Amino acid sequence: MESGSRLRATACTGMAVALCVAAAATQQPPPLAVVNVRIIDGTGAAAIEDGRIVIDGDRIVRVGPAATTAIPSGAETVDLSGRTVMPGLIDSHFHIENDPKLALRQLSHGVTAFRDPGQWDEQFVELRRIIVEDGIPGPRIFTTGPHIDGDNPAYPADSVVARDAEEARRHAEASVARGASALKIYYRLPFAAAKAVIDVCQAHGIPCTAHLELLDARELIAAGLHGIEHVTSFGISLVPRREAEAYRQAVLASNDARRDGRYRVFAGADLEGPFAQALYGTLRERKPFLDATLAVFERRPPSPTGVGGTSPPSAAPNGVAGSAPPPAPAAAGGQPDLAPMRAAGFAKMKQLTRRAATEGARVVVGGHTEVPFAGRGEAPWREMELLVESGFSPLEAISAATATAAAFLYRGTELGSLRPGFAADLIVLGAPPDRDISAIRTVERVMVAGRWIDVAKYRQY
Ligand SMILES: [Zn+2]
Repeated sequence: MESGSRLRATACTGMAVALCVAAAATQQPPPLAVVNVRIIDGTGAAAIEDGRIVIDGDRIVRVGPAATTAIPSGAETVDLSGRTVMPGLIDSHFHIENDPKLALRQLSHGVTAFRDPGQWDEQFVELRRIIVEDGIPGPRIFTTGPHIDGDNPAYPADSVVARDAEEARRHAEASVARGASALKIYYRLPFAAAKAVIDVCQAHGIPCTAHLELLDARELIAAGLHGIEHVTSFGISLVPRREAEAYRQAVLASNDARRDGRYRVFAGADLEGPFAQALYGTLRERKPFLDATLAVFERRPPSPTGVGGTSPPSAAPNGVAGSAPPPAPAAAGGQPDLAPMRAAGFAKMKQLTRRAATEGARVVVGGHTEVPFAGRGEAPWREMELLVESGFSPLEAISAATATAAAFLYRGTELGSLRPGFAADLIVLGAPPDRDISAIRTVERVMVAGRWIDVAKYRQY
């Protein structure tokens, strides 16, 4: 702003540095009015066809139809005719691993905030350095500290091991002291130790989430667990106790047993049976968050012309974070072709995700970093498409990635919706995603905290 620059130069003349900085901090750019645009606010409400958003500093101050939303005098206006604006996406399950630039590529795809559900703080140093160096306000980073797991952890490098409830409590307190805004239980943690972690979260007012798999979802949710990572966390809750125990023992003997084992459990599960019904009762009562991460489990039926499942377009983990073998090739050498079983199991995972939502679970979007059927940095988009394939409306899938995800961060009164007083984190799309969810791939502009990001730059990462 011309007058602001002039004022700042004058104010700094002859002033002490601290006063000069304080004066500069008071120089605000003029309000920004985004006009002639469709608005999806993230709450699930229908789009406003001819809308306006007024942004002042890092906050949204007005949102509504053009007819009733005044543009402040002196505001800069941006005409976005033909475009749709919605809140920035929140990826509830993003593993930074050793690739900090992937978070910036996802930012160019509209992911303005993410939570890494299990990682040492040291792993974020490089991303934070780039953010400071580039002078950008995001992506917003939410961390949990390492997974809190039991003996023989699934991901040793990303975990702390607790051998009893007291060790679990100490690990949990240590992560909170280092700034964790949530904690994550991993499946080898015994029940009493998992309960100790939940108690620490409740004492600090932060969410506790978990990859269950070997722990009973109904018991943990009843004990106060707020969130479930991976729809596969419900597997043993869906089948008779004897079958559940066989699966538990197989995975306890070898973590890799879950890779095909979870598809087998789901393929055979009865989603209307008594065990599923009992789970639904718990979901109705407690309404936990569910971060299904369908995209990382996606397996497609065998193609009619070939053998085996449709090949993923790129190498990707075959389960959760970390290395894993790719899906088995076609039947050969006497080995059974597992593709139909995996596809059947995945179809049930989609069904259960939808059913869980209708029973009361609050479904969010977790992209899970790299997935079989999406390009680099596109996992959250694929997850939204899979939610719609599972029976969610496009507006519901959008809320899962925005307002509901913000609630799961315990930031639902400041992030994830386009409402007055909320952070100005938004994306501009070339096509309307409430009509066809694949339009989420048409991100043209990204704003974090009231500032446009250099989309072209980060799309090269
Ligand atoms: Zn994960």
